[in-house]
Amino acid sequence: MKTVKLIAGLALATITVSTFAAEEVNVYSYRQPRLIEPMLDIFTEDTGIRVNVLYAKKGMLQRLKSEGANTPADLVFTVDIGRLADVKNADLTQAVSSDVLNANIPDSQRDDGGHWYGLTQRARIIVASKDRVNLDDILSYEDLASDKMKGRVCTRSGKHAYMIGLTAMMIAYHGEPKAEIWAAGLKANLARKPQGNDRAQVKAIKEGECDVAVINHYYMFNMLNDPKQVPWAESVNVIFPNQADRGTHMNISGMAMTKYAKNSENALKLMEYLASEKAQKMYSEVNGEYPVQAGVEWSDQLRMWGEFKRDEIDLTEIAANRGTAIKMMDRVAYDN
Ligand code: FE
Repeated sequence: MKTVKLIAGLALATITVSTFAAEEVNVYSYRQPRLIEPMLDIFTEDTGIRVNVLYAKKGMLQRLKSEGANTPADLVFTVDIGRLADVKNADLTQAVSSDVLNANIPDSQRDDGGHWYGLTQRARIIVASKDRVNLDDILSYEDLASDKMKGRVCTRSGKHAYMIGLTAMMIAYHGEPKAEIWAAGLKANLARKPQGNDRAQVKAIKEGECDVAVINHYYMFNMLNDPKQVPWAESVNVIFPNQADRGTHMNISGMAMTKYAKNSENALKLMEYLASEKAQKMYSEVNGEYPVQAGVEWSDQLRMWGEFKRDEIDLTEIAANRGTAIKMMDRVAYDN
């Protein structure tokens, strides 16, 4: 077992590895140990390459910036296209070219220049009170801003990456002026000031504060695994938005190789491993997300909800609209 330092006092764990392994790869991860350790353990078993992980909840970008060329990190794991794009835009990643990655990860789910790659997909779903919402009234993200939803919607902060990603998607499809009308309409429909995490929105529906919310799909699984939260999850219907047109907005968790990676060969081996069918299947099972690789078998949980139309827009385009989305949410005073 190798021990690594804490980031700013935050939780830390390490991967159990054979101490005699000569080869290694160093990872900075925003993903929790329980979500990635099973795959990393098998990677080490299969290749003999030790994986050292520094887990953090925040501060990764700052740390990479301040470490510069001295960083020990070879790879970065994080959620959200925004965070992957931020690392790239700070000039802290390098282009990776790999036939395996290109074959296993759809073009829309990776950076055009190879600076980041998606590993799993998360659907931004709508949940609606089973008692109070007619499902025909809320079929799309556009419907969140409709008159029928006046005073009935709850979301988290408009500054959060998940809401920025959603707004960036609306800009990509509707253009800035129409997207802003939507954002203002959504804001006008809020039942309360944006607050809390995704699960807190479902709790608010259970408690009658609002009728409709937008959340990432895996929180439904998380709530069903927590006895206190089961009633929250059971009070709502799950809606995959925009099935009649472009499909449900999907964000990713993903990986990037750092600009100054010292173990780049091993880092590439780990990247390719995580994109393999075997790891993709495991990955999706342990974290409740959808595999990016087409044809990989879904977990029982994911199969329970069945197939749905996913928005296949290139995430590079979503990343490019994020700056505009951040300013837009400010302009509509979303959080005020
Ligand atoms: Fe999340």
